[in-house]
Amino acid sequence: MSIIVENITKEYGSQKALDNVTFKINAGEVIGLLGPNGAGKSTLMKIITCFIPPTSGNVSVYGNNIYEHSIEVRKHVGYLPENNPLYLELYVREYLEFVAGIYKVANKKNRIDEMIGMTGLGAEQKKKIGALSKGYRQRVGLAQALIHNPDVLILDEPTSGLDPNQLIEIRNLIKKVGEEKTVMLSTHIMQEVEAVCDRVIIIDKGKIVADDTTSELASMASRSGRIRVEFNKKVSVDLLKSIKGVKDAIRISDRIFDLIAEKGDMREQIFNFAVKNHLAVLSMQQTGTGMEAIFQDLTRKKSES
Ligand code: ADP
Ligand code: MG
Repeated sequence: MSIIVENITKEYGSQKALDNVTFKINAGEVIGLLGPNGAGKSTLMKIITCFIPPTSGNVSVYGNNIYEHSIEVRKHVGYLPENNPLYLELYVREYLEFVAGIYKVANKKNRIDEMIGMTGLGAEQKKKIGALSKGYRQRVGLAQALIHNPDVLILDEPTSGLDPNQLIEIRNLIKKVGEEKTVMLSTHIMQEVEAVCDRVIIIDKGKIVADDTTSELASMASRSGRIRVEFNKKVSVDLLKSIKGVKDAIRISDRIFDLIAEKGDMREQIFNFAVKNHLAVLSMQQTGTGMEAIFQDLTRKKSES
């Protein structure tokens, strides 16, 4: 087992950021830690990487406990923190030399060359970090996380703030790296998980609300019975929720809603409802195929109840 997280709770003063979180990660898995802002993703990652201690609970990484063997844990883990804090005034190579020094990397020069090659920094290696685009800064962040050849990579929102091209490049780089390492990346974007991860742990308000393989979650999503309906006039969520067979209604705009079925097909009831309320249905389509929907359902229910 690569990472074991047992009953982790973290309180910041009176606020519980993590509430009894437990899971295990096998060596070689690429895990997406998915959750809305404030869910506790960064806190969990900081605990696994020994940057902050939990209030209670235990984590071990390759058999090394975070309390007694934090130095060993850090050797096994490469970490790209949220917002990738870098020394903007340093040159790319100079920065990597600095990080390699901290980890006492053997054959520093060769290893830095290797990292520059792997992360595609060749053309930028003589520039100052401050002169690089966000996408290239993320490559530097990945290079520093990988420099001591850790077994585990912990990447906190590695693609946030990137433009669509950079996003694809960085995702591909993570996928490539993920072939040989255990990877845990956090994101608030479901598509990212679909694109990169084998398994997803969804966290909301400090608690795990789902832990499934990406394919299981995708099949759950396609069965979820969610229909997007466009009416010709304004409708209220409460009125829509009164439709028989409709478990929930999510407002997309004044006239457009996603309706979630109790079970089975609710189209006929929707039409009957429209007729009774002098509304016209302009369009109606199944939207249950997206995993985004599952994520919204899992994390929204809790936050509104
Ligand atoms: P995420 O990374 O999922 O957005 P975080 O782990 O950053 O979530 O935060 C989880 C919760 O803990 C949030 O409500 C946040 O405000 C709170 N929190 C995070 N860091 C601190 C801190 N240093 N002091 C107090 N509260 C914090
Ligand atoms: Mg965060």
